[in-house]
Amino acid sequence: MSDCIFCKIANKEIDSKIVYEDESAVAFRDLSPQAPEHILIIPKKHIGGVNELTGGDAALMGHIMAEALPKLAKDLNIAESGYRVVINSGEDGQQTVKHLHVHLIGGRKMTWPPG
Ligand code: AMP
Repeated sequence: MSDCIFCKIANKEIDSKIVYEDESAVAFRDLSPQAPEHILIIPKKHIGGVNELTGGDAALMGHIMAEALPKLAKDLNIAESGYRVVINSGEDGQQTVKHLHVHLIGGRKMTWPPG
């Protein structure tokens, strides 16, 4: 999608601190980190958010959640200490970028409930 900032990051049209990439996903450091480790994992193809997911995206999301994310947590050395995984959806969910992204947040003790 031409006016999507995360598509531009995936296509290397704008700079970002990429920490992981494969054929279908890319992960980069959040511009405004909320913890010592704050990574965004995105599908390379444009999906606006959770509401736009279809059954055809099951393998892609399974790959992101079950392969890319645990590998990143391990590589960042937060797999054992723990971390939070967040997908914000829609207005009440405070989704600000309309390209599906999984927040991987760690390196400090989290609080609950989230704000
Ligand atoms: P959300 O509120 O779930 O839509 O999260 C969007 C996230 O994207 C926020 O944490 C922003 O700090 C982050 N963000 C926005 N633009 C960029 C960018 N160009 N590079 C890295 N992170 C970004």
